[in-house]
Amino acid sequence: MKILQSWTAGVWTGAEPRQVLHSAIDGSAIYASHVEILDFQAALTYARQIGLKNLLALDFQQRAAILRALAKYLTEHKEALYAISSHTGATRGDSWIDIEGGAGTVFAYASIGTNEFPSGNVVHEGPAMQLGKQGHFSGTHILVPRQGVAVHINAFNFPVWGLLEKFAPSFLAGMPCIVKPATATSYLTEALVRQIHVSGLLPEGSLQLIIGATGNLLDLLEETDVVTFTGSAATAAQLKVHPNIVRRSIPFNAEADSLNCAILGPDIVDGDEEVDLYVKEVVREMTAKAGQKCTAIRRAMVPAAQLDAVAEKIRTRLDKTVVGDPRLEGVLGVRGVLMGPLASRAQQHDVLASIQQLAAGNQIICGGTVPAQLQGEGLEQGAFVSPTLIICRQPMENSAVHEIEAFGPVATLMPYQDMQEALMLAAKGNGSLVATLVTKDPHVAAMAIPHMAARHGRLMILNAESAPESTGHGSPLPQLKHGGPGRAGGGEELGGGRAVKHYLQRAAVQGSPTMLAAVTAEHVRGAAVLESDIHPFRRYFEDLQIGMSLLTHRRTVAEADIVAFGGLSGDYFYMHFDEIAAKESPFGKRIAHGYFVLSAAAGLFVSPAPGPVLANYGLDTLRFIKPVGIGDTIRARLTCKRKTDRQKKDAKGVGQGVVAWDVEVTNQDNELVAAYDILTLVAKKAGAIA
Ligand code: NDP
Repeated sequence: MKILQSWTAGVWTGAEPRQVLHSAIDGSAIYASHVEILDFQAALTYARQIGLKNLLALDFQQRAAILRALAKYLTEHKEALYAISSHTGATRGDSWIDIEGGAGTVFAYASIGTNEFPSGNVVHEGPAMQLGKQGHFSGTHILVPRQGVAVHINAFNFPVWGLLEKFAPSFLAGMPCIVKPATATSYLTEALVRQIHVSGLLPEGSLQLIIGATGNLLDLLEETDVVTFTGSAATAAQLKVHPNIVRRSIPFNAEADSLNCAILGPDIVDGDEEVDLYVKEVVREMTAKAGQKCTAIRRAMVPAAQLDAVAEKIRTRLDKTVVGDPRLEGVLGVRGVLMGPLASRAQQHDVLASIQQLAAGNQIICGGTVPAQLQGEGLEQGAFVSPTLIICRQPMENSAVHEIEAFGPVATLMPYQDMQEALMLAAKGNGSLVATLVTKDPHVAAMAIPHMAARHGRLMILNAESAPESTGHGSPLPQLKHGGPGRAGGGEELGGGRAVKHYLQRAAVQGSPTMLAAVTAEHVRGAAVLESDIHPFRRYFEDLQIGMSLLTHRRTVAEADIVAFGGLSGDYFYMHFDEIAAKESPFGKRIAHGYFVLSAAAGLFVSPAPGPVLANYGLDTLRFIKPVGIGDTIRARLTCKRKTDRQKKDAKGVGQGVVAWDVEVTNQDNELVAAYDILTLVAKKAGAIA
């Protein structure tokens, strides 16, 4: 029996056994937590003095590059984790969600870091807004690393994904992490952290692991720190009001158990493809990870007329679910195991007890006990529970089915009379992570989804059109918010860049545009510019400075320009060509095409010969502010707005960075007529084309 070790303050600790951990498959003792008590103050000091310093020596782009390398490393070494994962009861398919889902989430955050976050460690949440009449006083928002430590407390059901989905955004935000996995499956998390340690990819101090209890850790936290929690609603409620967390206003993000639902829409009738899609989704959510997913469907609501037919279809599918040793999934000559045991005997005990509570006054359609038949040998001490379907015929009266969560392969089917009643039943969960609505009718979706959004963190609309590409009810995605209101904990995880921002501190900043530009490392309109003697397009990435600017020569717009542009583009809109209609328009005269102004501005500021600008790949925030009429004279100001070093090279090995340019087009009265950002790739010096 191996003794698990904690990894804190740069040392692996653990030599004496404390709590014995059993394989979920056969109950054999496989690991033990350690008895040694950790010095949590030392762990925090190490995180603050070593981890934080190392993380903040890097910027968002560099941390994103480390995440990418880590995701690659974990993918290459995944088999070692698969081998251990089966002891948690997971089939290979279940482990895929945890292990490759975890690495995939790290990959996703690497891309989010690269694409959405700046070089440096200040995120500008612009645009800046002018506060004074003369343009000398403006305000904006910035987000900065909190300069604290993230403590992540995780549930037993996703030992790998649970760590990685919280670690990736907090690492990107520059927070060292102390992770405490649920003890029952902490052996898999320990194996993951050992892999990460061996990889040598993370800066020292950026990740620590606690096996066992958190001792006085929460008492020692400071206002710059963050706690995240995944687990039961009861523990969340207890930790949320920890005196030190309350006293210091330490952000506490909870993701707790919830009674997620799936509604078969009132427009779906017997024979529709959507009935089968609904049944498949409910069965998949009951059996994947043996129903031990915080997002699993616990309450299935169907039109009353379809209740018994849907129950029969679900039961038939569940009957075909082979339960047994998860290592026998897909083994030749054996009926492939589709569902393994629960994570521990304690969970098995809890789930069987919850089924008894749910069954009171209701009808168990199938399951409800330990399976009579199991695929595999020596499984008597395993933590198995049969897939269990319960019917509740009076769901408006029965509160237990909306309150008791059996965290296993268990769902309750309930009828509704009309959509209003379905929505009332959904709301009885008092806040959930996710709900699915199966409907073909956009009107049903438009009516129901905004209503449901008040109580559900994520909503999936399923039908024959979306099903072939659907990622499924139960899969939180790195790009989309994960977390729900009320009983689900009230927290938010994932959600693309939003997740990173949860670990950053937002501040409003006021001052002159020049000061705001200096702070945000981004040109702010009205800030002093650096008139450039060399055309800014002729400067390499390294030589460009924020604020370097070019004021172009002028150009008077003639009628011939409008006619020529109309001919070229085929745009003969009356505003440009019909003297009489244009007179009656809000502008009272013929005006130039907005896209002509844009094109003419490019003609004014471009430096035509080959140079460091490799590509123009887009344009942001375009506004046509004032019309340009025949005889107006325009000019452009091109200013280097933002530089992002994504540490990339092109196919020829030329290093390059992203440069956003602020373009302001003005008329003869110095009024702004158009404004936008153009996005370019600019070569670095070494190896650049001259
Ligand atoms: P718990 O809430 O008991 O535990 C969750 C995590 O919190 C574990 O790491 C646990 O550590 C830790 N913990 C418990 N008490 C404290 C404390 N006082 N201070 C610091 N950390 C603490 O949930 P379980 O994992 O035992 O699961 C129980 C139920 O929670 C399940 O049956 C299910 O209903 C629900 N659940 C919900 C999940 C979700 O994602 N929403 C996921 C998993 C479970 P330790 O393991 O060492 O006790």
